[in-house]
Parts: sequence; C-alpha cells; structure tokens
Amino acid sequence: KRLGYIEVVEGGTIVIENIEELSLSVQNKLLTYLKTGFYKRIGSNERIKSNGRVILTCGIDIEELVKNGHFSKELYNFLIPQSIVLIPLRERKKDIHELVENFIEKYNEIEGKRIMAMTKEAMNLLLAYDWPNNIDELEGVIRMAVNLCDEYALTPAHITLGPISTETTGIGFNLLKFERIRRFILSKLYPNVFKIAMVIVYFLVMLLLLSDFNGYAKNTSLLVWAIGWPVIVTSLLLTSRLFCGLCPFYAIAEVVQKILNLRLKLPNFIKRQGPYIGVFGFALILCSEHITDMPNYPLATAVLLLSILGFTVIFYVLYGSASWCRYLCPLGLMNGIYSKLSIIEIRANTSVCYSQCKYPACYKGTEENGGCPMNLGVFNMYTNEDCTLCGQCIKNCKHDAINLNLRVPAAELVRDSGLNSYREGSTFAIAFFVPMLIAVVLAINLRKLSLYDYFSTKINSEVVHYALICIFFYILCFGLIWLGAIALKKSNSEGSSLEKLVWYTCTFIPIAFAGEVSNHVITFINGFGQILPVVNLHFGSYKLGILNQQASTEMVKFLQIMIIITGTVASMFIGKKVVKKITKTQGWNKVLSIYFVNFVFCGLFIFVFLLRDGLPTVW
Ligand code: SF4
Ligand code: SF4
Repeated sequence: KRLGYIEVVEGGTIVIENIEELSLSVQNKLLTYLKTGFYKRIGSNERIKSNGRVILTCGIDIEELVKNGHFSKELYNFLIPQSIVLIPLRERKKDIHELVENFIEKYNEIEGKRIMAMTKEAMNLLLAYDWPNNIDELEGVIRMAVNLCDEYALTPAHITLGPISTETTGIGFNLLKFERIRRFILSKLYPNVFKIAMVIVYFLVMLLLLSDFNGYAKNTSLLVWAIGWPVIVTSLLLTSRLFCGLCPFYAIAEVVQKILNLRLKLPNFIKRQGPYIGVFGFALILCSEHITDMPNYPLATAVLLLSILGFTVIFYVLYGSASWCRYLCPLGLMNGIYSKLSIIEIRANTSVCYSQCKYPACYKGTEENGGCPMNLGVFNMYTNEDCTLCGQCIKNCKHDAINLNLRVPAAELVRDSGLNSYREGSTFAIAFFVPMLIAVVLAINLRKLSLYDYFSTKINSEVVHYALICIFFYILCFGLIWLGAIALKKSNSEGSSLEKLVWYTCTFIPIAFAGEVSNHVITFINGFGQILPVVNLHFGSYKLGILNQQASTEMVKFLQIMIIITGTVASMFIGKKVVKKITKTQGWNKVLSIYFVNFVFCGLFIFVFLLRDGLPTVW
C-alpha cells in the first residue's frame, strides 16, 4: 500500500510550498482536511482521521488568483486569518550577510572546502539583486559558488544571478529538443570521431610540410592559410568555439596527459595575466606570418604548428586541460572573442540548477565521464568565450538542465553586457585584443597599396615597416575606442572605467570580425576553387584544369565591401543596445561616439580593400 503525505505526517508537520500551484480539486480536499481533520484515500470512501500540522507557503499575491477564479475562495478565507506575511529577502537585505556566512559554512563542510569569506564586490552583487525566489535562491547560488571556488574567498566570478539561458528569455530554440541531435551528442561518437579526423589531418599536414613529399610542401602551407584559417574564422559564427573542442593540439595533448599528468595547481598568475600573454602571442604570430610570408614558407608554417602543439602539451601535462586552452592559447583567445557572435550557445537552465541539483556533475564529472575540460560551471556561464561545445556537461547533467540554443547572432553581447565583466581572466584582455584584430587587417592591406611604396622607400627594413604600420593602426584603433568609452563613462558613472571600456570594446567585435573575413575572402574563394585542379595536377593530370576559375577583382571587392558594411551596421546596432542598457537612456548623443568610431573603422577598411592592388594568386 502506498501511503499519502497526510497519512505519513500523522502527528508531525507537513510543509506544502507554492499552494497556488495546487489544482482546484486538491485545494477543496485540503480545505476539508484542514476543517475536519478527516481525509479519504484515493479510490476509497472511508473517512480517516489524521492529526498532522500543515504549513502552507505561497510566494505570490493570492488575492489576484482568487479574483480570477484560479484559487478557491473558501480555502483563501479559511487561511487568511491564520496567515503570517514573511518579508521577502529583497526587503531585508541586511540579513544576507548572515545567511551567506551560514551557507558558506554548511557547504564548506559538505564539499570539503575551506572558503573563509566573500569579497566585497561579490557581496555587492548579492545586495544589488532582488532575489525573486528568496532564501532558496540565495542558498542555491552559494552552493554553486562554493563548488566552483578553489580559493579562500568567493569572488564575483563564482556568482551567478538570474536566468542565463537564451531559451528562458524567450529568444532562442533548444536544439536538444531534436532527439537525433540529443542522441548524437550523448553518444560516445561525439566529439571523438571528429577529433580523430582532425588529428589525422594534422599529422598529414605536418608530414607534407616537413618532408616536402613530391613537392607538396608549399601547396600544403598555402592550404593551411588560404583554406584552413578562413574556415576556422567563419566557423566561429556558426558553431561558436567548436573548433577548439575538436582541435588536434588539444586532442594530442589529451592523449599525452593520460600518460603523464603532474596535476599541479594552476598559478593565479596564469589565470589573471594569461590572456594578456595570449594577446602578445597572437601579435607575434601575425607579425611572423607576414614578415616571413608564412603561407609561402612551409617550414615556418610547420614550426608554428609544432610550437603551438608543444605549448599545449606542456601546459596540459603540468596544469591540466583548462590551463592552455582557456587562459593562454592565442588562437583560442581569438576564437573566444569571435564566438560571442555565434548563432549557438550552451547554457544551463539555472532555475533547475539552483532548485533541484545537489551535485553539479556538469562541472565535476561523474564516474563514467570527466568534468568540464575548460573547468567551467555551465550554471555560471554567461558567454561562449570559453566553452568548446564538447558536450561533456550535457552527458553529465542528470536533470536535463542544459540547452544547446540556436540564438540571435551576438545575442550575448547585448543580453550580458555588464555581467561578463565579472569573469576572471580574459575579460580585460578583450579591450586590448579587439583593436589589435582591426589594426592588423588594416596594416596587412595597407602594405599592398601602391601608395605604400612611396613611404617604404624611406625605410629599408621590411620588419620595421610592418611594425610601424601595425603600431600606428593599433594606437589609432585603441585610442578611438578608449575615447569613446571615456565619453560613455561621463554619461553614466556606475561601474569602473575599465568595465566601461570592456563593454564598449565588445560592441566592435562584429566589425572586427567583418574585417577578418573580408581579408580572407580573396584567398578563400580563389584557393577553394583551385583545390581540385591543383590536386589533379599533382597526380600528373590536367583534366580538371578547366575548373580552375578565379573570382574577378570587382566581384571580390564588392563582396569585401558588403561584408564590411554588414559588420558596421551590426556593430552600430549592438552598440546602441548596449549603451541603452548601460546608461538606461536612449538619447542620440549617447550613441554618437559609437557611430562615429564605427564610421571611421568602416571607412578605413573600405579604403584599404578598394585601393588594394590586384588579387594574389593562391597556389
Ligand atoms: S548538473 Fe545539470 S542541474 Fe546540476 S548544476 Fe550542472 S547543469 Fe545544473
Ligand atoms: S561548458 Fe559544457 S560544452 Fe562547454 S566546455 Fe564545459 S563541458 Fe564542454
């Protein structure tokens, strides 16, 4: 016989939360029990006496429900004289300090942690929040924060407040609702089968680059730069940082890590300064690419690919998976920034996480699967920046709380502006990196203009030329963005200047991305069109030579200008929304600086792309 709750509670107390969610028929049965002390079992007419005490809770204005006929008037009238109104947490925020201390102590004991405090910034976040779900929500937030924290104090990076999933905010669609996609991601095939394919391609490329087998080395190097690089960049828009999840460097390092794993604690220095080192590394790669003419220099391409593999393996062996990919990899840094524009995202339904989950398997892993390789708690993830879409958290979560959302491109730039600045690590590096991405494309293309020759005769060294142009454009781009951020700071004093600079800089990611894509449009179109004829030629036949079509200069330039204009419009649109959100006003004067800086970048891009002489041949 299965006992009902009222029967079980005999002599004790039962708490029924959210009574507004009971159906009207259950409400009527409850009323009878409360009035008489008698109840009936389901399917029986026998009246049974029970002596339980009942506490009912409700978090909304129940009078409204009574008026609409959604709550029993009799039950309401019966309860009202005996009700106690509890003041919601948002109206007694001074209690938050004490509650937080208690919860930290409780979860320190459960999780075996030694967290002693919460930083002032983190506490300010809690005090500024409205806590719609009151103490339960606060407890959930502290529980997850304790889980995430490896230090002695909780910081804003450990705190998540409010819903973060696109789906819960109504502008997205969860692709995991398609059974086939869900099953594929849950299967062992994903992502392993793609990783193996990428490792095979990597070894093949290295073999051809280093051995120059049959004279293929140069074309292999060109293939890497003309096809591989543009494919990686454009894939970020469609599949976010999935490339990183399938990256051969990462896959090889994982295998090495299984043999040798020193499990050292990742120094805080790497967490905080790593992304700046990554920015520096990215600048070095770009400079060496153009100074050595890497696409035409197979050995240089091979050295670059081997160096990245070497660093990845060393950091994996020393500090585990998240160290290199999350904090240091220059390519990962660029991928992270552009993945903010992506049309997909992985996010958790935090209301499930905070109310139902006692063990964040998404982060810590299970007996069968490891935890998140990037050391992320998906319940705390506002941005695509570090997520490699490896699917591990989806496999691990037993509550189906994780969504793979199709979303409006770049949705997080507007939705989360102001939140992501609390993340540790790469946050402030963005302010240095985005201007660099714009400056480098301008510098590369300026070098192709004939008017550049006039200036180049004054200085003999190619390296010095390139460095000077890059520095000039970097100062120009960074300066323009910085001045715009200062103007924004004047119109709204909340938050630090650095935070404003980060929000402001993020609005230029679309135009930076457009510049990067336009820059590769020539080599990609022509390179792609030539793959088959060139492969055919290597095997001694000219039959496919007929397919060797080149795009016309006009067509390529038209495409480039269209991409730049699209990026500019997107940046202006996002900038307007972000400024409106931050300043909480809508005036034109607030967005003028954003529009102005976008027009300057757009003009510069169009200038260098339009005047660039001729088109390079790829192979
Ligand atoms: S395991 Fe699932 S429910 Fe638990 S915290 Fe992670 S995503 Fe949320
Ligand atoms: S959040 Fe999930 S999908 Fe993203 S890297 Fe971590 S485990 Fe993989």
